[in-house]
Amino acid sequence: VSLARDAIVVGAGIVGAACAIELARSGLRVLVVDGSFAGGGATAAAMGHLVVMDDSEAQFALTACSLRRWRELAAELPGDCEDDACGTLWLAAAEAEMPRLRTKAAYYQRRGVAAEVLDGRQLAAAEPWLRRGLAGALLVPADRVIYPPNAARFLLARAADLGAELRQGFAVSRLAAGAVEGQGERLTAPLVINAAGAAAPALTPRLPIVPRRGQLVITDRYPGLVRHQLIELGYLDSAHGRRVEGATVTAGPGSKDVAAETSVAFNVQPRATGQLLIGSSRELAGWDSAFDPRLAARMIGRALDFLPCLAGAAVLRTWTGFRPATPDNLPLIGPWPEVPGLWIAAGHEGLGITTSLATARLLADLVTGRQPEIDPAPYAPSRVLPGREATA
Ligand SMILES: Cc1cc2nc3c(=O)[nH]c(=O)nc-3n(C[C@H](O)[C@H](O)[C@H](O)COP(=O)(O)OP(=O)(O)OC[C@H]3O[C@@H](n4cnc5c(N)ncnc54)[C@H](O)[C@@H]3O)c2cc1C
Repeated sequence: VSLARDAIVVGAGIVGAACAIELARSGLRVLVVDGSFAGGGATAAAMGHLVVMDDSEAQFALTACSLRRWRELAAELPGDCEDDACGTLWLAAAEAEMPRLRTKAAYYQRRGVAAEVLDGRQLAAAEPWLRRGLAGALLVPADRVIYPPNAARFLLARAADLGAELRQGFAVSRLAAGAVEGQGERLTAPLVINAAGAAAPALTPRLPIVPRRGQLVITDRYPGLVRHQLIELGYLDSAHGRRVEGATVTAGPGSKDVAAETSVAFNVQPRATGQLLIGSSRELAGWDSAFDPRLAARMIGRALDFLPCLAGAAVLRTWTGFRPATPDNLPLIGPWPEVPGLWIAAGHEGLGITTSLATARLLADLVTGRQPEIDPAPYAPSRVLPGREATA
């Protein structure tokens, strides 16, 4: 590890990896440190759906910008990143959901993202194993799927080609102005980027990021059974904790907080191997990584409702992961006003695989004083510090 460096990135998940390559591309000498190993953390637990989202203008801007970058990168991704331009189908189970589907279609189309409304017959032709009688779907053909841990390691390898260094097994215990400390060592650089995902507040205590647990289930190989990433239209309600399986909402133990609700939404992804990844759940349970079979039963029940053929499927593996959640569902990207030289790139909740590339580009643009492609204001970390709102 060389002594002269311009930036230290803490965290080698997909966000830290993407930051490393963008900063190195901007001519900075970068060191990435990770307490564990590259591409672990939430990145290893994720589904890897690269998806344009319309929850807010800011979320749309970040996801759409990222999708353009993932598309540009596609030709360079090695086979083990399992890049698949399969597109997303947003499913409307009942006719009553179709107006919402059409509104979503119009939103995308107005902003230059291809989106096509399918009726029930067209949907059945596109995905023959879906339950009959679904009202329709919105096809977003440019969405894709990747294998996130390998994508993170690919980004780090490319950053290394540009001179970046990676130190795995280096757990940071303290961030200071121009320095990181851990394991009895002090490493210095004018810029420090906290990209530690859901663990970021352990190093920058006032960051309002909490781990939001998610469970996933993966099946044996059934090639061709599902062709697109399938998501129910109400997924965003679940992401906000507004809805659980249609209309029922269960509050977490002893909690009245709406964000503490446990939610389940139908989300099935075809993997390059032919396996099916079944999601997804959201709950605030701290860092408890125990797998909850009752919650899994609800996820699988929801999946069976849409894909009855899964009744005969063999489940191979289940796991949990922690999304780095923020109060306004937007990540924190930019300088941290309380510590000179400290920057934040964290809090990407369930979209960090998608938004890593645009995050990194935005961060590198801000660091180097270039004009960013998208307005940085909605992601400014200063928004979470009372009285600092104006400091973008
Ligand atoms: C079940 C599930 C499904 C998901 N599905 C999708 C999806 O389909 N599409 C999508 O876009 N997103 C998805 N996500 C979200 C995505 O996984 C995260 O937003 C993303 O991985 C966050 O990346 P990160 O680099 O910020 O954090 P992480 O990947 O968690 O990386 C942080 C790194 O920091 C390191 N670190 C932490 N503390 C320290 C320290 N003190 N010192 C040194 N290193 C430290 C960790 O070891 C880790 O490697 C999903 C998440 C979950 C849990």
